[in-house]
Amino acid sequence: MLESRKYQFWFCTGSQDLYGDECLYEVAEHSKKMVEGMNQTGLLPFELIWKPTLIDSASIRKTLNDANADADCAGVIVWMHTFSPAKMWILGLQEYRKPLLHLHTQFNRDIPWDTIDMDFMNTNQSAHGDREFGHIVSRMGIERKVVVGHWADESVVSRIGDWMRTAVGVMESSHIRVVRVGDNMRDVAVTEGDKVEAEIKFGWEIDAYNVTDIAEYVQAVSETDIRSLVDEYYDSYDILLEGRDPEEFRRHVAVQAGIEIGFRRFLEEHNYHAIVTNFQMLSGLDQLPGLAIQRLMADGYGFGGEGDWKTAAMVRLLKIMGEGLGKGASFMEDYTYHLAPGQEAILQSHMLEVCPSIADAKPSIKVCPLSMGNREDPARLVFTSKPGKGVACSLVDMGTRFRLLINSVESLKQDIPMPKLPVATALWKPEPNLAVGAEAWILAGGAHHTAFTLDLTAEQIGDWGAAMGIECIYIDKDTTIRNLKNELRWNEAAYK
Ligand code: MN
Repeated sequence: MLESRKYQFWFCTGSQDLYGDECLYEVAEHSKKMVEGMNQTGLLPFELIWKPTLIDSASIRKTLNDANADADCAGVIVWMHTFSPAKMWILGLQEYRKPLLHLHTQFNRDIPWDTIDMDFMNTNQSAHGDREFGHIVSRMGIERKVVVGHWADESVVSRIGDWMRTAVGVMESSHIRVVRVGDNMRDVAVTEGDKVEAEIKFGWEIDAYNVTDIAEYVQAVSETDIRSLVDEYYDSYDILLEGRDPEEFRRHVAVQAGIEIGFRRFLEEHNYHAIVTNFQMLSGLDQLPGLAIQRLMADGYGFGGEGDWKTAAMVRLLKIMGEGLGKGASFMEDYTYHLAPGQEAILQSHMLEVCPSIADAKPSIKVCPLSMGNREDPARLVFTSKPGKGVACSLVDMGTRFRLLINSVESLKQDIPMPKLPVATALWKPEPNLAVGAEAWILAGGAHHTAFTLDLTAEQIGDWGAAMGIECIYIDKDTTIRNLKNELRWNEAAYK
């Protein structure tokens, strides 16, 4: 399993020295209690670390630079307990380079109606101190998340927890490495893109190899290693022979075991986190990687078909951001529609490569011919997706900029069997409905490939895109075509 670092987040409270030691002592006590309380909810996926109150430009600059330098720190959460004159934040913020969340809260939930006096007002004035801070961050044009509400409210802590996952996505995105086996599928437009710009914007390193370079790793796998992985497959999945000879079936499955082991060794030795294949370039391989890729995706690797490195990196990113949540993320492709009135939905799949992390039940192995790729019948895992709310994303290169489409979808329970379909599927209904959702997607230039998650929200993915400084187009329950066309028109100017 590909794992990311055990990150932490720093909690920094802003104040100033105007109020005297007694007040500053109280400020520190309050923020310590808040950090402790939020850590104890169990709603934060990463630990929050309390830091001493920041009261002047020097302490702000030092703390934010320490956060930059600490490899375990994935972001800083700031809160102005009292009033922290914001000019003293300028230098620190200019030098700060990690994700920033501004928690707009206060220590007390309620106004103490009977006892409130001017001392209380002066100590507990986040409502005004946080606005001074917010002003300077906006004036400096720094991207940040603002969360408003009482710190002990579970919905507020959950929003901070959601943002932590986005922040870890921002941190980890900067060193995602994608291996391209071969090149882009011939003639296809949307899977292409500017790889230099992707490295500048997202930090992704996208490297091409001849398929024969990786095929050598597959050919070098021993029979013993293949046999033991095939045994593992037979223990882990149901086997759907469908009239095929069991020995012949097993031989086909063994080819995928060899591909899985060979690819995995290549990825580990070369430190890649995502992989791209192309069925037009399979020299040295006996089958299009199917089951093998599905298992690698389930272990946290990103994947894109037909040279689609953008979707491969996005799938890896979704796996990082959703780590531990357990519903899954996959490469996916819009395949065919169900247009029965009132039940409109899109059947999602790919030639073979759908990640079993989203499977609703134990997957089965099938061996079937593949009309494309000019190779022998590949083994693949078949299953249907878990139902539930999900998000389908498409990152496209518009020539002058990247655009990220973020479509909220509902994955539907699939209770009608499709016995003749030899691929894994999801059936989903895009928001706000198929007609508007698909029209919006097409107008915005979205791809047929998507990176799909059942674990994350559109907000989390959009916040990642905002942190990358790219255009994000949400397609959800609020989308209307008239507004979307205007948004696209205005973005042409805004993202020049
Ligand atoms: Mn495809």
